[in-house]
Amino acid sequence: MTRVFNFSAGPATMPQAVLAQAQSELTGWRDSGMSVMEMSHRGEHFTQIAAEAEQDLRQLLSVPDNYSVLFLQGGATLQFAMTVLNLAAPGDSVDYAVTGSWGKKAVAEASRFANVNVAADGAAYKYCDIPPFDTWQLSNDAAYLHFTPNETIGGVEYHTTPIGLSRAPLVADFSSSILSRPINVADYGLIYAGAQKNIGPSGLTLVIVREDLLGPRRGDIPTMMQYQTHAAAGSMSNTPPTFAWYLAGLTFKWLQSQGGLAAMARINQKKAETLYAAIDQSSFYSCPVARQARSRMNVPFVLADSGLDKAFLEQAGEAGLVSLKGHRSVGGMRASLYNAMTQEGVDALVTFMADFERREG
Ligand code: PMP
Repeated sequence: MTRVFNFSAGPATMPQAVLAQAQSELTGWRDSGMSVMEMSHRGEHFTQIAAEAEQDLRQLLSVPDNYSVLFLQGGATLQFAMTVLNLAAPGDSVDYAVTGSWGKKAVAEASRFANVNVAADGAAYKYCDIPPFDTWQLSNDAAYLHFTPNETIGGVEYHTTPIGLSRAPLVADFSSSILSRPINVADYGLIYAGAQKNIGPSGLTLVIVREDLLGPRRGDIPTMMQYQTHAAAGSMSNTPPTFAWYLAGLTFKWLQSQGGLAAMARINQKKAETLYAAIDQSSFYSCPVARQARSRMNVPFVLADSGLDKAFLEQAGEAGLVSLKGHRSVGGMRASLYNAMTQEGVDALVTFMADFERREG
């Protein structure tokens, strides 16, 4: 079967080598005589798979020893609630920087459990830029400062981390840019990410949290929503999403084989530059996002004549370039260029875009 170039924002394309390995091991993992899907999560085989995945992730991100790595369920959306419930006591203030749709959702959920101060809001920039750090209105006593390093829908990414602005620990929703470049985990109190973009299939959520922040800071949280529960049980307090965890582990090994996150950053930079250059040199396509805030993972663009959107998507599909439709809230197009998207895929996209412009422009 020929594979398409899949620009979906998530669930997203996965490395072909990972899928091939999973296929080769599907009915029997090593000498276990069974599929990973059939194993007890507490048995020796899965225990090994789980531990290796954690070790490899720690190696890739150089996670310091005083951070717990949790493999959870519930998606990044559940983290909108778990972060505030575990890190803030009732009545505490929490700071949020909002640079797009996901940040807004995080605020809406946190507002149910704490006093949310929106320290910065990209509304004045139509969510196409990040408010300058010196305009942020931070609280003196916030339990944490939450931000979204990459807004998946708007395609807005921080190129500088807001470190040192606040005394409070940084909490970051890294769903759509984790593992795309090196980061200094020690700059953060807590990092979370849904898996279905740069980690593996959906159903798994990664949390990296500094141990002194594990909490909880209030007593009325369900057991399964306490980080402490999962940290104490090695994320096996109940049955974890074993197959997704295994696929994440294969992805971590694939990332190591590519040269780690510094190599991924170079590859991702080149892919993004290729696509933005094609957009910028044409008057037929444009990108609404300010250059200094452009995402390397999600590239939104519009056609000068939106009447051609349907034809663009249809013809792209025929050329094997799929899932380019922009999010329903913003329209236009969006190409997601996660780690598993190849330069070849991006080259095919820009070639198609130039052809389409010649024909229809
Ligand atoms: N935050 C960001 C930045 C996202 O991109 C997404 C999903 N697209 C979410 C949160 C929600 O993730 P989930 O569907 O895993 O709950």
